[in-house]
Amino acid sequence: MKIKDILQNGKLNLSLEVFPPKEWLKVDDTLRVVDQMALLRPSFISVTYGAAGGTKAYTKKIAEHIQNESKIPALAHLTCVGASKEQADELLTAFRQSSVTNILALRGDIPSDSEYPKDFIHASDLIRYIKDHGDFCVGGACYPEGHPEAASIDRDMDMLKIKEDSGVDFFTTQMFFDNNIFYCFLNKLYQKQINTPVIAGVMPITAASQVKRVMKLSGTVVPPRFRAIVEKFGDNPAAMQQAGIVYAAEQIIDLYANGVQNVHVYTMNKPQVATALKNNLQEILK
Ligand code: FAD
Repeated sequence: MKIKDILQNGKLNLSLEVFPPKEWLKVDDTLRVVDQMALLRPSFISVTYGAAGGTKAYTKKIAEHIQNESKIPALAHLTCVGASKEQADELLTAFRQSSVTNILALRGDIPSDSEYPKDFIHASDLIRYIKDHGDFCVGGACYPEGHPEAASIDRDMDMLKIKEDSGVDFFTTQMFFDNNIFYCFLNKLYQKQINTPVIAGVMPITAASQVKRVMKLSGTVVPPRFRAIVEKFGDNPAAMQQAGIVYAAEQIIDLYANGVQNVHVYTMNKPQVATALKNNLQEILK
């Protein structure tokens, strides 16, 4: 099933995420994580793509498992910087053959060495390429606080318009911890006449160490309310996990109450976190 159709079903859609291991021998562990997550019947499960495509075979295998064994729509991430058109064709053919028809088209992080294929420069180049090469449903990334490289949020929004014009079917946001930032972002999209559906990205923070890592990698603002939780419970792993899950559940309840029906949960290969979160939302999801 295409994700663009799922997003229009009028229900609260929760999707989950896994990432591939660094070694082939550990792929089976990730497949077990997928099986546990599949029991929760999420709207779809996404699988990330390792930096510079280093683990692309694992992403492919995991996406195929989600789609064909778990029978849950799979969203395979695909990055394009440093990839050639031939490499993209090879993966697209494999995805088509295994009925993986949802792809999140990303640029990825620019390699430090400047000698790499320049077939794709921006994610919008990959979006257009995929749309021209099969009946795929293609998503793109967006950043409620602006992409770290963008000169301004306004300029970043103009680049989202290019993604829309390239044929993107939906956007998934970078994680955010303050829903007001997301609501402002939706307002800016409206002003720019960008009408593509947006999936809100929420990450349950379950360990104090995660906060620093998330801030460093994504530049996401951690609001004072959440900082207070980390200060209070950061040294108590069980309490921190519970507080982080409740915080994410509250974010989702507020989003849903304000008309946002599509939420992607950055579950980071933790089915127990996904299960606890779903339990917190049991009545709301009925
Ligand atoms: P782009 O859309 O190309 O944007 C990158 C920068 O270029 C932005 O500043 C933008 O404003 C600017 N820009 C965009 N288009 C143009 C244009 N036409 N002309 C001029 N400037 C332009 N990384 C991975 O390695 N693997 C993953 O699986 C992965 N999954 C992700 C999932 C989500 C939901 C998100 C939000 C990010 C993910 N990332 C992943 C990280 C992502 O690869 C990085 O954030 C990367 O730096 C930018 O990717 P992008 O697709 O947003 O790039």
